[in-house]
Amino acid sequence: RPLWRDVPQGADDPILGLNQAFVADASPDKVSLVVGAYRDAHGKPVVLRAVRAAEERIVAAALPKEYTPIAGMAEFVRAAIALMLGDNSSALTEGRIAAVQTLSGTGACRVAADLLARFPSPDAEPAAAKLIYVPEPTWSNHWAIFHDAGLTVRGYRYWDGDSLGLDEDGLLEDLRAAPRGATLLLHACAHNPTGVDPTSAQWARIADVVEERALRVLFDSAYQGFASGDPERDAAAVRLFVERGHPIMLAQSFAKNFGLYGERVGALSVVTASVAEASTVLSQLKLVIRPMYSSPPLHGARIVAQVLGDPALKQLWLEDCAGMAARIAQMRSALRTELESLQPGRSWAHMSSQIGMFCFSGLRPEEVDALREQYHLYLTRDGRISMASVNPGNVRHVAQAITEVMA
Ligand code: PLP
Repeated sequence: RPLWRDVPQGADDPILGLNQAFVADASPDKVSLVVGAYRDAHGKPVVLRAVRAAEERIVAAALPKEYTPIAGMAEFVRAAIALMLGDNSSALTEGRIAAVQTLSGTGACRVAADLLARFPSPDAEPAAAKLIYVPEPTWSNHWAIFHDAGLTVRGYRYWDGDSLGLDEDGLLEDLRAAPRGATLLLHACAHNPTGVDPTSAQWARIADVVEERALRVLFDSAYQGFASGDPERDAAAVRLFVERGHPIMLAQSFAKNFGLYGERVGALSVVTASVAEASTVLSQLKLVIRPMYSSPPLHGARIVAQVLGDPALKQLWLEDCAGMAARIAQMRSALRTELESLQPGRSWAHMSSQIGMFCFSGLRPEEVDALREQYHLYLTRDGRISMASVNPGNVRHVAQAITEVMA
């Protein structure tokens, strides 16, 4: 019996759906600039040296495979927080952080969303109770994650299509108009998809408005170390907020910076005002997690804990992380140079000034469609290019195809 006959076909995920189309494309010239996963100069996936070494140690130690606690592996969670806030952060040393291991960055955002839906800010006006603001544009999954947890999701201005940079005035105006006590999602660094981050002066002005409107802040950090090549530098915005006394929430992913995509390693931290608050918030985080997936996986957390806890492995990781960021930066300037030589008089400066994994090219949706249909070059319709997939072997083809569809 067709018990499921009333179920409609669901829409493909805009990113993963495109990837399927790419896999099905038989052209030998096809290039996918869709998914945000690092590739080496030959287009191959990479396992970092420190990750391999940590894995060898873990296997050699023949550790048991017991359940992790609901909140995950404590050693990993502490290392994750210290990586972002610094070992000497007073929030950390005073025990004011409620933190759990999560199913990568997506899981951290989802657990945060459930906590936000259950416990509105005590400062919240009625209109703000379940309201979260996300940048326009943002990683497309943010909308779905927060919506599915029962929050109302509203965009705030972020990208200025004329200057191809940050719309600071629009952003501040939208935050000033937010109801008191609403939640604000900020990308910690390497904003996806635009590659445009606020400067430190702009971050300080954002923090001022956050204070004025008593906003709750959720930082989403999917690219620490990947943006500048230096995880300390990429932590600057989060540290600024914590040092100014903001009780931020922090969603961390170790997918990109450790190359642990499929291992699903992440953490959610909630900075609170006291040890007592941290303890009650942690108890509620566990109540979100237990019925959802009970407890997180072990292997990836062991790897990160091993790497961050061993000075030699950490150094190796820092070098690999810097190497990935540097290769992407080189490809930004190589693609820019190719484009500018093919398009005299046109500036592609934004391609090298943007940071992180993506370039928000400014290509229009029809141009993106033509790239796919005529040149077998795949990117998302918002014109986002995953720079991690550009390499010396395809950069000229990519530049030529872009130039031809724009002509
Ligand atoms: N947040 C942002 C901004 C992202 O770009 C991503 C991945 O693309 C994530 C979160 C979550 O990734 P994951 O769940 O693989 O850690």
